[in-house]
Amino acid sequence: MAYYAAPLLKLIEQFERLPGIGHKTAQRLAFFILNGTQEQADQFARAIVEAKKSMHCCKICQNLTDAEVCGICSNPSRDSSIICVVEDPRDVVAFERTRDYNGLYHVLHGVISPMDGIGPEQLKIKELLARIKNGGVKEIIMATNPDVEGEATAMYVSRLVKPLGVKVTRIAYGLPAGGELEYADEVTLLKALEGRSEI
Ligand SMILES: [Zn+2]
Repeated sequence: MAYYAAPLLKLIEQFERLPGIGHKTAQRLAFFILNGTQEQADQFARAIVEAKKSMHCCKICQNLTDAEVCGICSNPSRDSSIICVVEDPRDVVAFERTRDYNGLYHVLHGVISPMDGIGPEQLKIKELLARIKNGGVKEIIMATNPDVEGEATAMYVSRLVKPLGVKVTRIAYGLPAGGELEYADEVTLLKALEGRSEI
């Protein structure tokens, strides 16, 4: 790697850490930054630092927000008796795009995956149970991905939630098995939501 000057090598290495970015792309992005103005580079760096500093989990649903309570949880016209449980903040965006779901969300920030060393205690399950124990929740929709880990997580959460007297449903399979919610189109997601069944 001696053919790169140290600062350039450092920049390429940072781009290479990003998901889906190989060495060639990292190199292309690094040169793009260097070819731009100082002001553009400063803006890029500031956007990263400021987003990281100001975004955190909503204290209710655990979705990412820059406020204490996110815009969905604080919206009085949302139905607070239904909570759609998802793996990732990107799944909230996917469901919001359907424009048809009016309940609240709960973001687990992952799924149970013994292979990757992720157990239930690393997910935001305690926070979900606390919300339910606070009262007013009638239904939990398990909307984890339709893959092995997503299924196992849905079953695990449902076993904890059911004794609390809340109905637990699972989204239907209009969704491709092994697929990811964030890539599903709006119609497929809406169908999956409508066809949910009790688990
Ligand atoms: Zn929230």
